[in-house]
Amino acid sequence: MEKYDIIVIGGGAAGLLAAGRAAELGAKVLIIEKMERPGRKLLITGKGRCNITNIAPIEAFLEHIYPNPDFVRQAFNVFFASDIIDLLNKFGVPTVIERGGRVFPKSNSARDVVDALVKYVKRYNVQIIQGARVTQVNTANKKATGIDYIHSNQTKTVISDRVILCTGGCSYPATGSSGDGYKIAGELGHTIVKPLPSLVALEVSDKNVKELEGLNLRNVTATVLLNNKKQQSLFGEMLFETFGLDGPIILSLSRFVVEKLQNKANKISINIDLKPALDEAQLEARLLRDFNTLGRKPIGIAFKELLPQQLISFFINRLGIEPFKPCSQISAKERQAIIHLLKNFEFEITGYRPFTEAIITAGGISTKEIDPKTMQSKLIENLYFAGEIIDLDADTGGYNLQIAWSTAILAATSATQQKNE
Ligand SMILES: Cc1cc2nc3c(=O)[nH]c(=O)nc-3n(C[C@H](O)[C@H](O)[C@H](O)COP(=O)(O)OP(=O)(O)OC[C@H]3O[C@@H](n4cnc5c(N)ncnc54)[C@H](O)[C@@H]3O)c2cc1C
Repeated sequence: MEKYDIIVIGGGAAGLLAAGRAAELGAKVLIIEKMERPGRKLLITGKGRCNITNIAPIEAFLEHIYPNPDFVRQAFNVFFASDIIDLLNKFGVPTVIERGGRVFPKSNSARDVVDALVKYVKRYNVQIIQGARVTQVNTANKKATGIDYIHSNQTKTVISDRVILCTGGCSYPATGSSGDGYKIAGELGHTIVKPLPSLVALEVSDKNVKELEGLNLRNVTATVLLNNKKQQSLFGEMLFETFGLDGPIILSLSRFVVEKLQNKANKISINIDLKPALDEAQLEARLLRDFNTLGRKPIGIAFKELLPQQLISFFINRLGIEPFKPCSQISAKERQAIIHLLKNFEFEITGYRPFTEAIITAGGISTKEIDPKTMQSKLIENLYFAGEIIDLDADTGGYNLQIAWSTAILAATSATQQKNE
């Protein structure tokens, strides 16, 4: 039976990089990948453009990571944004920096990133078995000794000194990341913090929201209300879907909302300030001026300058004002209601979209059971973790992939060093 120095389970972002680095450092490495090709999820990152990383300095970077940012500090000290940029450059992928410090391949093609990583592993003679699902990590005396996998309905065993588990989370399971690693690590005694969809769209109780499908709002502020108390607020862009709310600021708020929705007693809503640049007094002055100018014209017309066309009838319905009511007949109370709704366009949140639509998985292998200096399991010697399988997740902006890159390099380096000791 063939024996490897290191087996890497999962040929995604973390697995490819870990395997390449371990082999570059002299180890005999095997990747076992469930899908017919490695890097399936990487191909769909950044809407096919792959937001590789972010150039924010470490402290600012860590602010985007949950729930235990300090856990990756040492991994970031070993390998950070400039290192992955350099490595990809070396393998023929020049990069560009965009708004918010986001780094993309100059070609705008995630395929180029996957090809570069595959080139990296091939350069150092990493073997890849594709279309093979690892079912367990074998151990003896609390030490990893190899793995079992199923290929063409046959179970096979491979022996190795070290195992790096990088099977990802369970979001977008069609890419191969369907949570297998949690089961594998759980059977070895690891605690799995309940995986939850994150960076995910939210469902609302108001069924009429489907009228707003496709409406994109820019420069609005969304605030989460938990049991009527204001929590986090974000300014930026959002989108309406048939079921509810989506788009950048909603995805960023979703981590908090999904967690709070686990307690059925919590009442959660998202309050959209449609006019964050204007306070209530300024809005009142504006409405008075507009209503005065428009006189007997219907109220619907007054909203044309204030709101996107697609929003107007939905907004008037919420107000409960007759749409053809002349502006001159709008009472002071109705005017106050309009101002209130412009500043507090509220939706009760009843749920969230499933893992099939979530960009990232919150939860995973508890960081308490992984040594942050090496990424080695504290329970099973010679077993290492890297990437999304760990209980770490981050905002959009290239932060999630950097977690995968950095933990992969640290796991590969420590696994190789320990092997050579
Ligand atoms: C739509 C979408 C867009 C995204 N865009 C970005 C972005 O632009 N920037 C960013 O930073 N992050 C982005 N992310 C998140 C990013 O893709 C992940 O953080 C990253 O892929 C995690 O890397 P990983 O190697 O841990 O897991 P994955 O990339 O998921 O790789 C895990 C691999 O393990 C394999 N595997 C699973 N189980 C087994 C098994 N039993 N045996 C063998 N192999 C197995 C899987 O097939 C898979 O290839 C996006 C995610 C999604 C879903």
